[in-house]
Amino acid sequence: MSTDERQLVESAIEDLFASHPPADTPEKEFWGAQFDAGLAWVQHPEGFGGLGVGPRWQAEVDRRINEAGGSTRNRYLNVLGIGMGAGTIMAHGTPAHQERFLRPMFAMEEIWCQLFSEPGAGSDLAALATTAKKDGDTWIVNGQKVWTTLGHLAKWGLLVTRTDPDVPKHAGLTYFIVDMEAPGVDVRPLYQITGEAEFNEVYFTDTPVDDDMRLGEVGQGWAVSMTTLMNERVAIGGNVSPRGSGSIAHAVEAWQKMHGEDGDAGLRDQLTAYWVESEAMRLTAIRAKEAAQKGTPGPEGSTAKLQWADLNKAITSFTIDLLGPEGMTYPGGYEFTRPEQTANRESSAHKAYLRARANSIEGGTSEVMKNILGERVLGLPGEPRVDKNVPWREVPRS
Ligand SMILES: Cc1cc2nc3c(=O)[nH]c(=O)nc-3n(C[C@H](O)[C@H](O)[C@H](O)COP(=O)(O)OP(=O)(O)OC[C@H]3O[C@@H](n4cnc5c(N)ncnc54)[C@H](O)[C@@H]3O)c2cc1C
Repeated sequence: MSTDERQLVESAIEDLFASHPPADTPEKEFWGAQFDAGLAWVQHPEGFGGLGVGPRWQAEVDRRINEAGGSTRNRYLNVLGIGMGAGTIMAHGTPAHQERFLRPMFAMEEIWCQLFSEPGAGSDLAALATTAKKDGDTWIVNGQKVWTTLGHLAKWGLLVTRTDPDVPKHAGLTYFIVDMEAPGVDVRPLYQITGEAEFNEVYFTDTPVDDDMRLGEVGQGWAVSMTTLMNERVAIGGNVSPRGSGSIAHAVEAWQKMHGEDGDAGLRDQLTAYWVESEAMRLTAIRAKEAAQKGTPGPEGSTAKLQWADLNKAITSFTIDLLGPEGMTYPGGYEFTRPEQTANRESSAHKAYLRARANSIEGGTSEVMKNILGERVLGLPGEPRVDKNVPWREVPRS
């Protein structure tokens, strides 16, 4: 890290804190000012929420904001935008897209969602069937998406469509930014085991999307989607929380409440092992995040995502065991809600246990992560892909 970069970041932080004291400035106003100061994504060029410095500085900026009584919770409240959309727009968008979308995204004035999965296309995303047909300068979209997290709050969606059914599946895709308030967009809640409807099914019926909302070239949607997905794995698995927080904090609390000083030595050993694993995971996540912020993220995102899913499920189950009979209750009652965030961080150990079941599915299943790591990192033989050179239209679908 160069001294010049340090000085640049230090002076931007000082100026920002002087004009907008973190503890006293309303959140959205602060995040807007943070963007203007180049401290939103420090690695972006000036004018696009950054200072053009090394990505490592972002962790320092966020730490200082939290220490000064401010908040960085926009990063997870608008995770599909800030964590995934921004990187995609920087890599594949035009300057006009970058100018229009990044600031309101970071300031939480506009929430984003991701419209990739469909009832017949999840792990095999490239099989998707939602169509976009060109009509002059407009594309007309028809189809159904599913599992659309925060679709009920979103102003904008990251949408992948099929624009050419006559070429093999990966070659016929095109990526758009879609206005979730456009005609023909119907968002319906899907309730999860926790009682919350974090996600939705979304129907498109003759929805118009202007050609200037396209990210990347026609037919290049697969490459653009990969940028989003690599960012997603880091946003999910590479999420860096403070040491000892999250599900391991619930476990320690349950231990102190139910067992205290005289607890079973075996359980205490297990708790300690989970604590150590959580800390190792946290450090891996820091590495993944730094790699991602340098440019296109690498395999660290997939390893962190895979490891985190297993560990979080194990720790939340262990916590319920520690709670004994109390673990079978559901404090606060079971309500159906449409939440304003994913995987509510303030939730109880009980809700965390139920929510963790999704960890090995969301953002790509653990089985698929293992395939990716096996093939791309370890160089193992690939899965048989019988539909690789077959036009999408001719591939049998259920
Ligand atoms: C909480 C949550 C939030 C989500 N949010 C979003 C969102 O905002 N936007 C969005 O687009 N999607 C979202 N998803 C969808 C998610 O990306 C998909 O669920 C995931 O990719 C799996 O697809 P699928 O559900 O269709 O399962 P399928 O692909 O049908 O898989 C079913 C089972 O088969 C296994 N399997 C499939 N293919 C293989 C293979 N080649 N080798 C070995 N095993 C295989 C899978 O691992 C799985 O166990 C979300 C999911 C969850 C749980």
